[in-house]
Amino acid sequence: MSMEKFNLLEECKDAANIFISGHIRPDGDCVGSCLAMYQYLRKALPEAKVRVALEEPAEVFRCIRGFDEIDNTYTVDGDVDVFIALDCEKSRLGAAEEIFANARKRINVDHHVSNERGCGDVNYVVPGFSSTAELVYGLFDKQYMDEEIAKAVYIGMAHDTGIFRYSNTSPETLRIAAELIEYGFDFPELIDETFYEKTYAQNQLLGRALLESIVFMNGKCIVSAIDKKTLDFYNATSKDLEGIVNQLRITKGVECAIFMYMTGNLEYKVSLRSCKYVDVSKVAAFFGGGGHVRAAGCTLNGTFYDVVNNISKQIELQMKEHAEESKETDCL
Ligand code: 5GP
Ligand code: MN
Repeated sequence: MSMEKFNLLEECKDAANIFISGHIRPDGDCVGSCLAMYQYLRKALPEAKVRVALEEPAEVFRCIRGFDEIDNTYTVDGDVDVFIALDCEKSRLGAAEEIFANARKRINVDHHVSNERGCGDVNYVVPGFSSTAELVYGLFDKQYMDEEIAKAVYIGMAHDTGIFRYSNTSPETLRIAAELIEYGFDFPELIDETFYEKTYAQNQLLGRALLESIVFMNGKCIVSAIDKKTLDFYNATSKDLEGIVNQLRITKGVECAIFMYMTGNLEYKVSLRSCKYVDVSKVAAFFGGGGHVRAAGCTLNGTFYDVVNNISKQIELQMKEHAEESKETDCL
């Protein structure tokens, strides 16, 4: 399904109240996209009241202009004329879902294959794209761009591509990144401080996850989990676990990495990554989650072993299918 770009300023021109939000547990792309959109609309539509609401993002994103204006109480005063949902479908808006439902016009910009149709009145969802930030940038009238907006877009793109190295990085992604760094912000510092730098506790958690990981299916899968006790010991939240699944994924020989952490009694948040052929968005969707072909997530109930068994069954199905297909093409 192809989806056309729309005229953002035209869609918002009569709006007195604009509300921007993204998914729960916001990541770099979500925060970058929302703050880029926030800064842009405030500048391009000075008459409108623009608000941005998100669950509390990681502190590393404080370097983006507008960070302090993010409302995590989701307060609405008056009607919302335009709601812009970024980097997700409506079911992942958390506390903003109700505001979305009551808004006069809903705009949805996203790149998740699990949200292919879009959930708004105006939709711009392109699953192949590197990031929502890249899509958002494409909607901007360049006359309103400045260094701070460029920085927000760049952070979104850089984070969702693992610093321009995952397969979702297109030639256009790199061309846009080149355009953005021309605004002059210190991109090496930005990358270090928002992506690579870890606190001592974050490194400890990464270390533990790697040390306690288990390979199975002849080394094609790897799994690791962090339990509640460990999270409490380090006083850690989901924000402290970013990057662990990506490190698991690059274990030599691994096709699929599973990382999970306890979110409640017998409840795990699961992150999935694949390298070449397993479509993890399908695996996640099977369990009510979603995401991208190479990066997806879901929440499952049960013990660690229940979760691993259930997830690996779905992965195995795809691996078998892949093996069959490879055999067929070998015979040709
Ligand atoms: P992560 O593993 O980093 O939490 O998420 C990987 C990708 O899958 C991200 O693009 C994220 O937005 C998406 N994702 C993670 N968990 C869920 C979920 O429960 N539902 C849906 N629809 N997408 C998810
Ligand atoms: Mn994204």
